[in-house]
Amino acid sequence: MEKIILTGDRPTGRLHIGHYVGSLRRRVELQNSGEFDKIFIMIADAQALTDNFDNPEKIRQNILEVALDYLSCGLDPTKSNLFIQSQISELTELTFYYMNLVTVSRLQRNPTVKSEIQMRNFEASIPVGFFNYPISQAADITAFKATVVPVGEDQLPMIEQTREIVRKFNSIYGEVLVEPDVLLPDNQACLRLPGTDGKAKMSKSLGNCIYLADDPKEVQKKIMSMYTDPLHIQVSDPGHLEGNTAFIYLDAFCKPEHFAEFWPEYANLDEVKEHYTRGGLGDVKVKKFLNKIMESELAPIRARRKEYEKDIPMVYDILKEGTERAREVAAKTLDEVKAAMKINYFDDASLIAEQAKRYAK
Ligand code: ATP
Ligand code: MG
Repeated sequence: MEKIILTGDRPTGRLHIGHYVGSLRRRVELQNSGEFDKIFIMIADAQALTDNFDNPEKIRQNILEVALDYLSCGLDPTKSNLFIQSQISELTELTFYYMNLVTVSRLQRNPTVKSEIQMRNFEASIPVGFFNYPISQAADITAFKATVVPVGEDQLPMIEQTREIVRKFNSIYGEVLVEPDVLLPDNQACLRLPGTDGKAKMSKSLGNCIYLADDPKEVQKKIMSMYTDPLHIQVSDPGHLEGNTAFIYLDAFCKPEHFAEFWPEYANLDEVKEHYTRGGLGDVKVKKFLNKIMESELAPIRARRKEYEKDIPMVYDILKEGTERAREVAAKTLDEVKAAMKINYFDDASLIAEQAKRYAK
């Protein structure tokens, strides 16, 4: 069986370091591993409209921002198909048929949807489109027969929902769809990177992000003012690591070689943690170290972005070509789905012949 990746992001803002450690960094590694037959990376504008339907300009502007972030992180359009969801109407059509296979109560039980409804104050009145987005996500994944979906932890319930739809579809209509596997970050800190305010998730919608495109001054400012340990007031006080954003970011970004380069007083992160919890190590020193690491990671990304920013029409060409290629694949799957569901009347000569015969009697 072919190894196929599908994943993506909502164009609700620029991408941040949570996306980077949660999915983007891994995508680039997988792309460059050469192990995959096809890679589809989707800018999920139709999904973004489900909770931003009243602000289409925001989505329109951010498609380019997300594309620039992709390219600057190393997604290579000759290896990965970058495409725009709304331009492939086959995905909407698949969603419509999959809606028959899911109950309202099953959608209501989806924990990510539950918390997102709360976050958006949709409790009193949920737009049907938003409620339905896990089904639309199943259409996106299955249209490309993706076998692997590299995402952050918040997407687990979506992939589970997709797998259920695949099983139900195949059991009713025959083996057409492929059950995808989720690929979560292997580093605990990257599963759901918290925001700089210490909130559980860095998220465009919460405004607690370090963006990949932030300039060095902005990154430094955000790091120096980020949430750490409210009980660590004097340098000599013992510090706590749990929920300490600076240390969670260090867990996500720090590599052994960073010590020789940026902080030779310590041999590894465990030594830093030990000193911090014992007392005597101030937040400022920890944050300065984190800032140096972030700079070494973000500087090349920023530099590549500057290059792509010089030729915006080319970026749109990349998206257009990627969308055309992706559309061919989705159209083929939709044909198979319609045939399996017996709604391919005009392509089915045997149906017409058989009915003609019946009426000729
Ligand atoms: P929005 O607030 O519009 O939902 P978002 O910041 O949650 O935006 P998405 O576009 O919904 O971003 O998510 C894109 C991908 O990035 C998903 O795979 C998601 O799991 C991952 N991701 C998003 N935020 C984080 C995070 N803080 N830590 C790890 N992964 C994340
Ligand atoms: Mg999200």
